[in-house]
Order: sequence, then C-alpha cells, then structure tokens
Amino acid sequence: MVEITIRKRPRTEAVITERKFFKKTARGKVVKVLRERYLRDDVACGIQGCRECTTETPETLPFYGSSEHQLFPNGHYLLIDTNVFLAQMDLLESNSFNPPIILLQTVIEEVRHRSLPLYNRLKALTKAEDKRIWVFYNEYRSETAIIREENETPNDRNDRGIRVATAWYNTHISLTRPPIRGQKQSPHPKVVLMTEDAANRQKAEQSGVTSISIRKYVEGMKDANVLLDLLAAEGSSEIGPTPAVSGRQALYPDYLPTSVLVAGVKAGELHQGHFNANQYNYLEGSVPIPSLDKPILLVGRENMNRAVQGDIVVVEVFPEKDWKAPADEVVDQEATLKNDDAEDSGEEGDENGEEVIAKESRVLAVDSIEKHPPSERQPTGRVVGVIKRNWRAYVCHIDSTSLTSTLTTSLSTQTVFATPVSRLLPRIRLRTRQAPTLLNQKILVTIDRWDSTSRYPEGHFVRALGKVESKEAEQESLLLEYEVPYRPFGKAILDCLPPQGDQWVVPPKGELDVQNVWRDREDLRDVLVCSIDPPGCQDIDDALHARLLPNGNIEAGVHIADVSHFVLPDNPMDSEAASRGTTVYLVDNRIDMLPSLLGTNLCSLRPFVERLAFSAIWELTPEAEIVSVRFTKSVIKSTAAFTYEEAQIRKDDPHLQDDLTNSIRLLNSLAIKLKAKRMAAGALNLASPEVKIHLDSAESSDPIDVEQKELRETNSLVEEFMLLANISVARKIEESFPQTAVLRRHLPPPKTNFEKLQDILRKTKGFSLDVSSSGALAASLDKCVDPNEPAFNTLVRIMATRCMLSAEYFSSGSVAKDTFGHYGLASEIYTHFTSPIRRYADVLVHRQLSAAIGFTPLHATLHSKSHVERVLDVVNRRHRMAQMAGRASVEFYVGLALKARTEQAKVKGEGDVKEEAYVIRTFRNGVGVFVSKLGIEGLVTFKRDTQFDAENYTITVPGQNKDVKISVFDKVVVKIEVEKDKNTQRGKVKMTLVEPVDSSAL
Ligand SMILES: [Zn+2]
Repeated sequence: MVEITIRKRPRTEAVITERKFFKKTARGKVVKVLRERYLRDDVACGIQGCRECTTETPETLPFYGSSEHQLFPNGHYLLIDTNVFLAQMDLLESNSFNPPIILLQTVIEEVRHRSLPLYNRLKALTKAEDKRIWVFYNEYRSETAIIREENETPNDRNDRGIRVATAWYNTHISLTRPPIRGQKQSPHPKVVLMTEDAANRQKAEQSGVTSISIRKYVEGMKDANVLLDLLAAEGSSEIGPTPAVSGRQALYPDYLPTSVLVAGVKAGELHQGHFNANQYNYLEGSVPIPSLDKPILLVGRENMNRAVQGDIVVVEVFPEKDWKAPADEVVDQEATLKNDDAEDSGEEGDENGEEVIAKESRVLAVDSIEKHPPSERQPTGRVVGVIKRNWRAYVCHIDSTSLTSTLTTSLSTQTVFATPVSRLLPRIRLRTRQAPTLLNQKILVTIDRWDSTSRYPEGHFVRALGKVESKEAEQESLLLEYEVPYRPFGKAILDCLPPQGDQWVVPPKGELDVQNVWRDREDLRDVLVCSIDPPGCQDIDDALHARLLPNGNIEAGVHIADVSHFVLPDNPMDSEAASRGTTVYLVDNRIDMLPSLLGTNLCSLRPFVERLAFSAIWELTPEAEIVSVRFTKSVIKSTAAFTYEEAQIRKDDPHLQDDLTNSIRLLNSLAIKLKAKRMAAGALNLASPEVKIHLDSAESSDPIDVEQKELRETNSLVEEFMLLANISVARKIEESFPQTAVLRRHLPPPKTNFEKLQDILRKTKGFSLDVSSSGALAASLDKCVDPNEPAFNTLVRIMATRCMLSAEYFSSGSVAKDTFGHYGLASEIYTHFTSPIRRYADVLVHRQLSAAIGFTPLHATLHSKSHVERVLDVVNRRHRMAQMAGRASVEFYVGLALKARTEQAKVKGEGDVKEEAYVIRTFRNGVGVFVSKLGIEGLVTFKRDTQFDAENYTITVPGQNKDVKISVFDKVVVKIEVEKDKNTQRGKVKMTLVEPVDSSAL
C-alpha cells in the first residue's frame, strides 16, 4: 500500500485550496458550495525508475523518454495542450504516432468541457495498449496546482497551469537525476509543450520551457509523409487554408451571429432543425420543422449554404410567393461536377468552376419554369446559420480524375476530391501526399471546415480501410458509415461476466444455491416449453408454451431470457450495452450488444438446459380473450428449438399427436384469433421488401442467390405472442412507474405525407386511400388490388410504409398520455420486452417489470426521467442506424450476387440479367424502379429529353415505331448490370429499360 500523506495547510495557503462557487438547487435556492482540494506531494510523475515517485499504477513513461525525434536527440516527452486534443485527435489516435505523452488533469477537464465525443475518444486513447500516456493530476500536486489570479480568464489560468506543469516536470527530472560523482552528466530528456496557441508558445519560451506546434513536430517525425495527412486543417494557425481558398470572393453568404440566430428562433422568425440532403438531387435539401406540415425546402447551393447532412441549422423562410416544389429531376453530383478542378475551383477566372456554376444554374432554371400545382409547393427558404455541425469521419473514395499526378513514387502534396460513399454528402476537398496509393481504396476522411469562399468542404485523410470491394473494407466501411460500435469487448466489460464462464449452470435448489438464484423464482422446468426461430439462430431470446386448463381455458406462456439477472445496472457491461443499444445483424456478420458468453450461451434459451427466464403467463379463453396475466421470474428447460419451417411441418402433420405438437397447435389457434382482433382494431399490415441472401459457404460468404423471405403461419404465431407479451408488460410498467416507464410508440403520420401517393393512386389506378385513421388506411390498402397484377398491392403497401414515421422509444413521463399509441399496431400502449439479448430497451423494461412485481428494487437511475430519456435517445439512434446498416449489407450482397450472375450468364452465353420491375417514381430524366425479386430499388436515367408530365406522373419516350408512355406502377423489364464507376472504382448497379422500350440509346 502506498502511503498518502496529506499535507497540512498553513492558513495563508487556504485560499489556494478552496474553491468557492454558487449553485442553484432543484428548488431554486442558491447555496454556497466550498470545495476543498487536498494538495499532496505524492502525485507521481509516471516516469519509470523515478527515484522520488512511487505509484501503484505502472508508470508508462520510459526513463530516457523517446529519442526518435530529430529535434530531441537526448530524449523527450510531450506534454500536450487542450487545443491539440480538440483539433487533432485523428493524428493522436494513429498507430504511427506514439511518443510518450503527459496528459494533464487540467487538459482532460478542458476537453470534457468542450466536447463529449472528443473526451470519450481521449479516454479511450489513454487506455489504448500501443500508447504511452501518463495522466498527471497536476491540480492535486502542491507544486503544480495554481489558482486563478485576479483579472485572469479561466482560459489564461489553464494555459498558465499547463506551463507551470511543464516547467515542474523538467525541474523534477533534473532534481531526481543528480550527477554521479566521477561520471560525466548525461543530458536529461526534455518535456516539450505541444500547443497550437502561438501566444502560449511564446510565453513558454520566455520562461525557459521548450514548446512546439504540432505541424513542426510531425515534420520532424519518421513517418512525416503519412502523418502530415492526418492533420486537421482547423484549429491551427500554422496549417493554412489550401491555396484554393484564401483571398477568394465569397461563394456563400456569411452566417448570422449566434445571438441573432437564437433570438430569431425564439421569436419564431427563424426555424431550427436537422438538414436532410436529397439523395436524388444534390442541389436540394430540406429541413423538417415540427410547426410546419411540410419540411422547409432548400434549393441550390447558396440557399443550402454549406449545410451537411445531419447538421442542426437555422433557416429563414421566404415569402410565400417564392415557394417552390421539389424538382422532378435526378441531379447527380458526380456527373455535374465532373470536370471541376480540386486545386483551383472557386478561383476567379476558373473556367471549370464557371462551367459548374453554369450547369448548376441551368438545372435550377429548368425547375423554376416548371409549373407545379400550388398544392405541391412547400415552404422554401435558406440556411442563415449552423447551430451544431454533425461532422464525423466519412467513408470515401478518391476521385481519380482529380489527381494531378498518379505516380505512386510522388510524395508531393496534391489537392484531390474525396467522394463520400453516401449520396447525401458533398464531395470533400483534401490535401494529401498519398493520393496515388489511395486510389482504389476505401478511405476515411473527416471534414474540418467549410469556408464561405470554398465551393467544397475541406477535410483530411484519416486512414485507409482497404481495397474497394474487398469484403473486409466493405464491411468495416458499412459499420463506420452507420456508426456501429464494433470494437471487441474490453477487459472491464468481460470482467462483469460470471466467473464460471461457460461452466455456469442454474444452481440446484436449496442449500447449494448460495446466491439465492431461486429466491422468488417459479420452477417451470416441467412445462413443455419450445422456441421457434429462423434457422441458425444462436441468440434465442424467447420461448413459448400453452396447455389446456381444467376449466376449458388455455394457459399460454412467453418466456424471455433473463438478461437483467446477468447485466447489472451501471456496471461497465451495462454501460457498453447501453451505448451499443442493439445487436446489428449484417448478412455475414453479427455485431453483438452483449458478450457472446451471455448472448449465445448463458442467456440464450437453448433446448435441454436449464435457463433463467422472465415469464409472462396468461389465462385465455378459447376465443383468445385475456382472463388474467401474471409475470414471474422463472427457471425453464426448453424441450425443443424449432425453425419456423420445422414447427410448421410438425403442426401440419396429422399423425403427430404428442403434447408438444398439440401445444404448438393451441398456440397457433390462439394466434390466429389474436391477429384477427388486432386487424379488426385497425392494425396495419405493412410491407417492407425483405430478401434473403443465400451464402455459398460460411467461409467464402459469396452470395449465390437472392430470394424473397417466405412467411409461414408459425412466423405469425411467434409474432402475435410477442406482441401480446409486449403490450401486457407495457401496461404493467406504466401502471407501476407512470413517470419513467420505457415504452415504444408510433405516431400517426401527418396526412400530408400521403398526399402524393394518394394523388398517384387516384390518377394512375383510380383508387383512393383513406388516411383518416390506421383502420381506414388498412381497409383502403386492402382494396388496392389489380387482378392482373398480384404484386401491385404489395407495392402500394411498401410505398405507404414509406409515408409513415418511424416508431420510437420514450419515457412515459416525457410525453402526453394521449400520444402513447402505436399507430401501426393499433395499440394504445406498447413496449419491447421480448428481445433483451439484442435490444437494450428490453433490458430496461425487464428491470422495471422486475421492480413492478417486487422481485428487485428499482435502480435509482430508472427513477430519473431525464436519465431514461438520455439513454433512450441513444438507443433510438442506434436502432435506426442498425436497420440502415442491415439494409446496406443486403444491398452490397445483392450487388455481389448480381455480379456473379452476370458473369455466369456470360460464360453460359445466356445474355444479360433481366428482371421484372415496377415504376415507383417518374423524373424528368428517368424513372425509379423497384425490383421485387431482389428487393432493390434502382434508377433508370435518360440522357435525351423526354416528355415529362409531372401532374400525371408519366413520361413519354420515343419507342421503335411510336412514342411510349410510362407511368407509375407500370410493370417494366430492366437489364441489370454491375459496372465499375470509372472514378471511384466502386461497383454500381446500373439499370436500363428493356421493356416497354430499350432505353440504352436514350
Ligand atoms: Zn517522479
């Protein structure tokens, strides 16, 4: 044990150690808080072998420092200032950057104060194994703790504190290494202050402290060429804007000052919201505002004014006479900006730039002369300020045409364009020394700034992900693009697992149950429970049973993995699960929310082993009316794990009359009635295109085919009972915790969302869609039937689904009770209880239900409305991202399957891959189609002018003999190819019409 000496404080010093501040209590009372700091002499320097300092944590700083830098041949340590961490985290995280670093407490606190995401990255950095970072508690060591002087700003105070600490370190090193008699004193390593603040550097030098800017430091490093690329352009006076930007005339209007923005929003004159880019037209974006029926439309570069997807912007709405309708044109950034020059775009007399401007204004002009019915116009405006940038690292490709030199030996800096994989993002200009070697790679690029004089945002290279279309690179970029946390679980998290590991078993009842696992648990091991899941399911969340009761009623049970027995509130495993929010399913991979020991083993309700469960058990009449419901923690022993198909076959086999099969039949008959009741209550039967990818083998994971997912009766059986359990649990926890119950709702869509679909249906097929309630919508969707076209109904359902809002988790005390309802399910209350292995919301619900039945007390955090809201915000976001990541993964594999099919067809001489498709959208220059067999959407674009009838959703194109009219919902045949984009080398699905016309020449 290290002894801690608390130094006695002389009275005169008291002022140093007391911090006085005023705090408002929750009730509004102001109290004076005195916080004392106990200064100590034993805060360790972290240098290995230091004669003075002792510490329990292993020191991370080598005795001789690092002599790998050419400026510091006698060894050095870096003491890094806050501004470097705020602006240059990508560099600091790089594997090639690993000098020994001293991290001051003052700096950590400043970073935390300025940016939570950067603070989290900083924390992760200090834990990284390949970094040598020592956290020095300078505010607790008597020689380095300072107090703010009168007339000193907090910022200046911290700067001074950082200089004092650097000076102390240098003194400390020389004091602890006195010369040995008779030997020549060897020079000591130096502690060097790295800061981007020139004034701070100057002051440091004046007081004899060596200091350096990050650029200067990196230039002297071995890997300078690679590392210089990682420097962000922002936050450094030494890293000037690229030559293409300085001294230019502004291309965009300046933003209004923040105070004006805030006042304007408050007064209702300006509007604040998230910027959404239009994926079909890069010159258009929109900002949804709760107070307006339709989102505010932003047309053209100038009006979008440097907003990037996801930024929180402030918008000014134009007078109504200037309102517009969204353009009916596909405007592709790649094509329009093709010839723009990365190095000098925006410069006066820049011909390419003028060409771009001309092209863009032509596009906008076409739109403004187009007549739109007034009903299609929407509030239109311009961005006048940005409240918060939501920039992150984007997956990009280098645009090969923007390189001035492609010699891989060339190490000169080039300014090139990086094209983001996402169609929602602008291309980014970046300076790099590695451009030629980065061609054909997927790379990560961060946006640093977007000046009003620069047409494009500017960024810097972060790292390469690997070759384009290699599975590793594609998979990692998908995870990065959808912000899926995918790092392996760390030690602190794994330490929360049961120490017995996979040897853990449910303890026997009685004396051997030292942990009281059986306390208040029902023994359901004799009940015939089984699970029904997709084939290959390893994380079995749920199992079911049903049996006849003597009174003629039926007992049905849903048993859910008892995850909250293993995942305790607020420990590292719980925090990690909360921040992951959900398991992410990709075609060939699964990113777990919980360590697999729990997910696929100890929690998973596998057959033939005893497992802890949380059970909901109903008594139902044969007509599926609920008589009663109870909830209990339990122990079950599942008798079988069926696939949907196996359960279906078993149920349908008249020769099987065993109890298990009969219980499946019982469950099925109840499920049919439960479903009928839901439908009668107005639940929607929606459709989303779901396809299944067949993989060749687990190793190669080459897709061999794509097929539509088949739905059986048994799918519906499981679904109905999960819905029933979720609804019953929702009622129970809301009743017990009216302020903080974790619920899920689906708000009714604004009626205006359906206007276009209603109009299309009316004009093309003569159907009307009644959207007055979910029941009315369900009924009118049922009527949308074309006897000649069985797929038509599904198509309409898919399109209707897109008009809906997405469901969300919320805390019951945070919204009005009359908005709890789930529109799609037509249920007045709903939650998620049935998948705690893969959804974090369910874990919270389990804890609340457990408290509601008096099994465990409710953890304090679940009594806090704001805490629950905060957690659910993250979970909602992760949930959306996970869905998109899953879809993108399917799309990638569909692309691979198509490529393979095209090649096979070529070998066999079968010609092109052709598929039936349906027109779902018409543009002035093309049609959007949906290929139901592959579950993908595509775009067929025409270069030649066509006759476009915006009002009737048709285009007329020249056919072989006469003109052919194509309308929304028409069935067409498309040729599907996967071709490599010449610039980015990325495979793109290209579709051409084959029927009713061949569009290859159009
Ligand atoms: Zn020391």
